Amino acid sequence: MTELSGKLFICATPIGNLEDITLRALRVLREVDLIAAEDTRRTRQLLSHFDIHTPLISYHQHNTASRIPELIQRLKSGESIAVVSDAGTPGISDPGQELIQAAVRENLPVVPVPGPSAVITALVAAGYDTSAFVFGGFLPRNRRAKREALEEVAREHRTTVLYEAPHRLLDTLRLCADLMPERPVAVCRELTKVHEEIVRGKPSFLLQYFEENIPRGEFVLVFSAVDRGSMSSSPEESGGELTVEERLASLLEQGYDKKTAIKIVAQERGISKREVYGAAINLPARPMKEN
Ligand code: SAM
Repeated sequence: MTELSGKLFICATPIGNLEDITLRALRVLREVDLIAAEDTRRTRQLLSHFDIHTPLISYHQHNTASRIPELIQRLKSGESIAVVSDAGTPGISDPGQELIQAAVRENLPVVPVPGPSAVITALVAAGYDTSAFVFGGFLPRNRRAKREALEEVAREHRTTVLYEAPHRLLDTLRLCADLMPERPVAVCRELTKVHEEIVRGKPSFLLQYFEENIPRGEFVLVFSAVDRGSMSSSPEESGGELTVEERLASLLEQGYDKKTAIKIVAQERGISKREVYGAAINLPARPMKEN
């Protein structure tokens, strides 16, 4: 028995730059009995770079059902296991979470070995308000569900971070240009890698930029916090002294699309969307906005 016996180590690894591994992570990866890796090929490259020869076992989204009982059994028999993801901190938008939850359920010791994570790296690099933020993981693939999720982001007043795949980026930016045309967004690409790039701007600018520069690599989107004045539900801040028509007009003026503006006013005033819609019909057509 060693100090490590029977423990599950949640071991963060670099999201690109190999220098971002911690000294502790290297020691743990060297000393555990087994490393459960989301992508054994990628982890093997990392281990061989640091001359570590610990046995690897695959643990990914397609084998969680069979692997979790096996890994839990091995922990119970006293083996020490480090779980590592493809990159970053296991448990954030990857299968690490299910293994950690299973270990917690079994009252097995879980030891975090912190390090890089794309969400925090992008959040701080974007330069928006970090005093409170929301992390939404990946957007749904289904377009309707994705639009609804982005409508939530449009209503959210805290800085919001999302993961995005390169082949979905343009479609997502198109939806953002429609739902939140005025929102500053930072597109963080290939963080810590050779082609690291952080592009900041309104969605229509970003759309144009990435139409001209084909999206390649890994992406995180960071949506700036919204001025509380337009989102809060206190009477003064939500335009409580304004009529429903005036409040709608002010939201449209701020760049919200009609559907989102109607939802916001309905929530603020505690009335149905149908009632707000009735007021919206009387509004003049929305002027075109330059981005
Ligand atoms: N658990 C990981 C973490 O803590 O960062 C995230 C796993 S999730 C399956 C992978 C996603 O994270 C990618 O699709 C991308 O959105 C984001 N990501 C990972 N590495 C990145 C990088 N170097 N630059 C930008 N985004 C990255």
